[in-house]
Amino acid sequence: EGVVRFEDVHFSYIPERPILKGVSFEVPAGHTVAIVGPSGAGKSTISRLLFRFYEPASGRILIDGQNIADVQQGTLRKAIGMVPQDTVLFNDTIGYNVQYGRWDAAAEDVREAARLAQIDRFISNLPEGYDTSVGERGLKLSGGEKQRVAIARTILKGPPILVLDEATSALDSFTEKEIQDALDRVSQGRTTLVIAHRLSTIVGADEIIVLDHGSIAERGTHAGLLASG
Ligand code: ADP
Ligand code: ADP
Repeated sequence: EGVVRFEDVHFSYIPERPILKGVSFEVPAGHTVAIVGPSGAGKSTISRLLFRFYEPASGRILIDGQNIADVQQGTLRKAIGMVPQDTVLFNDTIGYNVQYGRWDAAAEDVREAARLAQIDRFISNLPEGYDTSVGERGLKLSGGEKQRVAIARTILKGPPILVLDEATSALDSFTEKEIQDALDRVSQGRTTLVIAHRLSTIVGADEIIVLDHGSIAERGTHAGLLASG
């Protein structure tokens, strides 16, 4: 359960300017496929189409054999978890931010999600710059820590399919390693599509797809792609 399939997908935002030119790939259940390629290649467009923010001009996108054109956007949002590059936090504790939208979740599940994402030590703290009259004390979160809040939120939500948009922001290498570890844990056993910006972070992907100007230029494993130059 959780198979994602793109079949000859064409798409343009504006007429006469094709962005995806016949993209086909499959992410088998529980596998990880990474999409890499230069800025502007169409990588994020693929994730936007998967959420039905836009419809393909032609071709089909299927989840478990069902065309997503026939699926409500709300249903898709339950099936697909998104870890975005930039996370905007609400004016409340980190715990509240992890739990947001999952008000029926047990407190211990919230703590466990925060622990897996390695943010449990400041679960009752507030982000710096927010109104500290509602909580314990101000806390300055780095970009990497904010991304881990998004990871914890996704762990709590527990969707079968994950879309990870890798941070391009200047994370220091220690943070990058921690994020990578947390992402590895959350993608374990889930169908995962990674929008990647660096080959070095996707060594473990089952397949890497190189997108260039809206077409698949190459595909293979990390070792295979390195060998072919
Ligand atoms: P990537 O994620 O690979 O950097 P995107 O999928 O974000 O690329 O964008 C692919 C192309 O589509 C780019 O040339 C971008 O400028 C263009 N584009 C993205 N969003 C829009 C939009 N809303 N309207 C028109 N063009 C867009
Ligand atoms: P929920 O279904 O948990 O209440 P939302 O409806 O806020 O959550 O969002 C569902 C999923 O869609 C979340 O994983 C969220 O990150 C993702 N999402 C929401 N808005 C966007 C967006 N603009 N671009 C990409 N993903 C988004």
